[in-house]
Amino acid sequence: MPDLVTHGFAAWLLVRPQRWRRVRLLFFLGTFLPDIISRPIYILFPHWQGYTVAMHTPLFALLCGLLAAEFMTPDLRRCARLAISAGILLHFGLDLMQSHLGDGYYWFFPFSWRSYELGWFWPEATVVWVPLWLAIITTAEAVLAWRGRHSAA
Ligand SMILES: [Zn+2]
Repeated sequence: MPDLVTHGFAAWLLVRPQRWRRVRLLFFLGTFLPDIISRPIYILFPHWQGYTVAMHTPLFALLCGLLAAEFMTPDLRRCARLAISAGILLHFGLDLMQSHLGDGYYWFFPFSWRSYELGWFWPEATVVWVPLWLAIITTAEAVLAWRGRHSAA
């Protein structure tokens, strides 16, 4: 996986426009969800990997995302399902670009055990870009906040 900051930066780029304000947090939830539900289990119980590998698959993440959307108020559920699912798709879109020494991710689990990835970068390669992503986000948000304050006055 690219690191969570890189996932968050990609999500921020997509949902930063004001028209996405209503679903922004749900989209972020979807973007982080595949790693939130799988990584703690992988880290705490590495010897269970044969059993837990399915937790970082599109089907499992989408099911968890749809379950999470059910906790929203009825008027928000449809929107939440779409936003969370879109965030999950963005997450796996970035993961697809990676390279692994062994098998990559099982995109079509439980229908297939074939793994596939584009191999454009190693999972740790994005970490060196984290300071740049954070600088861009904080600078852009500061500029936008400053503009908002000065245009309202
Ligand atoms: Zn991932």
